[in-house]
Amino acid sequence: MSDQKLISGSEKILNLNWSDLEQHYKELVDRGLNEEGIETWLADWTSVSELSDELYNRLFVATSLNTADRESEKRHEAFMENFYPQWQSAEQKLKQKFLASGLEIPGFEVPLRNMRAEADLFREANLPLIAEEEKLNTEHDKVIGAQTLQWQGQEKTARQMELVLRETDRETRRQGWELLAQRQLADRETINDQWVHYMQLRSQIAANAGKPDYRSYRWQYFKRFDYTPADCLAFHQAIEEVVVPAVTRISERHKHTLGIDRLRFYDLFVDLSSEQPLKPFDSVEDMVNKASEIFHHVHPQFGGYFDLMNSEGLLDLGNRKNKANGGYCAYFIHSKRPFIFANAVGIHDDVQTLLHEGGHAFHAFESFKLPYLQQYYENNIPTEFSEVASMAMEYLTAPYLEKQFGGFYSKADAARAKVDHIQTDLRFWPYMAIVDAFQHWAYENPWEGIDPDQCDAKWAELERRFRPHIDWSGYEDVMMTGWQRKDHIHTVPFYYVEYGLALMGAAQIWRNAIADQAKTVENYRKALALGGTVTLPQLYQAAGARLAFDTNTLQSVVDLMENSIDELEKTYIQ
Ligand SMILES: [Zn+2]
Repeated sequence: MSDQKLISGSEKILNLNWSDLEQHYKELVDRGLNEEGIETWLADWTSVSELSDELYNRLFVATSLNTADRESEKRHEAFMENFYPQWQSAEQKLKQKFLASGLEIPGFEVPLRNMRAEADLFREANLPLIAEEEKLNTEHDKVIGAQTLQWQGQEKTARQMELVLRETDRETRRQGWELLAQRQLADRETINDQWVHYMQLRSQIAANAGKPDYRSYRWQYFKRFDYTPADCLAFHQAIEEVVVPAVTRISERHKHTLGIDRLRFYDLFVDLSSEQPLKPFDSVEDMVNKASEIFHHVHPQFGGYFDLMNSEGLLDLGNRKNKANGGYCAYFIHSKRPFIFANAVGIHDDVQTLLHEGGHAFHAFESFKLPYLQQYYENNIPTEFSEVASMAMEYLTAPYLEKQFGGFYSKADAARAKVDHIQTDLRFWPYMAIVDAFQHWAYENPWEGIDPDQCDAKWAELERRFRPHIDWSGYEDVMMTGWQRKDHIHTVPFYYVEYGLALMGAAQIWRNAIADQAKTVENYRKALALGGTVTLPQLYQAAGARLAFDTNTLQSVVDLMENSIDELEKTYIQ
């Protein structure tokens, strides 16, 4: 069965029902499997999964483009109720059939390893517990989402209050930050209760799956075959030794420039130049044109991909009423196209987001060339590498931010933008280490981890270890409840170190690019094209980097980052 026999065109995809695909799945389940037929069988499985997955993604995208559109919402809900469970169970049957066949084909070693891990972890008894956990996630999201407050006569969300931290007037920053902190502390007991519930559920889930603790369960769930908890602890250690002193040095300068003697949390995000905030573009069209020029400079192929997305309406970048928050890259795998969603309002963050999502989109274009779904499906490419694709793109585009390359800024403004980017990345590592170390501790010592008071004490200890440059005196309660304010800890446990590792990969690629931009970009492209066909260390290696956790590798990239900040700041701070 070929694509044409099934369907073509995105409009038709949106009108698909489960009954249109059910027969195809059933036929695949019933078909005899042998060495000769396996490739056709996999190709046919790919075709039908591509349609289902593209429908799923298109329906999701439609709801985020217009949250007030009841029709899209209803279609999405109906899909989740009727189509989704049947689709997932059909996919499960095909996976089991394939595993049971014992057939192996080249380029499938890693996908097979993934499938085996998934099948091995599956327990019927965990389904109701996972559903309960999902319900708890919704309740948690509700508590966090309701954390609004009145600021300067308007109702503001916690996310919106982050903008106050950029205000140049220190007193304004302090007031806004304190108000938000008080609002968040009002939910302390509620979140404590939810945490106890989470910990109970998770230890039961691990026990049902025959795992010694929840961390081992999550390790297999995330298919972390190529690194261990001990590697993560070593990574924390390296961050403490290398990044913490660098951030402390930067913070000392920060204090000096601001003329303050205590660096408070609300002083961290303010721009040190006395200039107006960066204003990169006038309209979304202007942003797209400039981004296109930049991507063309990185590689004509990337520029071409981006222009194609623009001409096919696969960029929805402006902020408008009734659009969902945030930015993402979605994948339409039947059409072999990515889609970028953003909420640009004319600030530098918008540029950074677009360059980042561009990396994800190019990753999709390159890996979609592989023949089978299991080789390029987003869930089968490790996040530890997908985020290298996007974070490295932020660095590979940096040389072209200036107007002389068709980019956004004067020389001095480009320097400010780069410093902002590098500093944000540097500061991320210690915070990531706190979030990750906290979870290792909690699930390694579940009888302590379930006790919110001990969680507070642990978080405080980690803050002192990784962020000694921040003065929290007088704000101890705010400081020690930091674990309550990090969503990942509650709703996606253990999912965070990926970003720390990917940043290490991206920074190594940046280092290579300074020596030889063209060769680095060529390796980067080749690595993207591998999709999920090789292991995580092999993906890093193909991109010219190393999956690393050690002090030496970290030191070399942190030196580069710190020196770059020094050099760049000279161009705009006297
Ligand atoms: Zn990303």
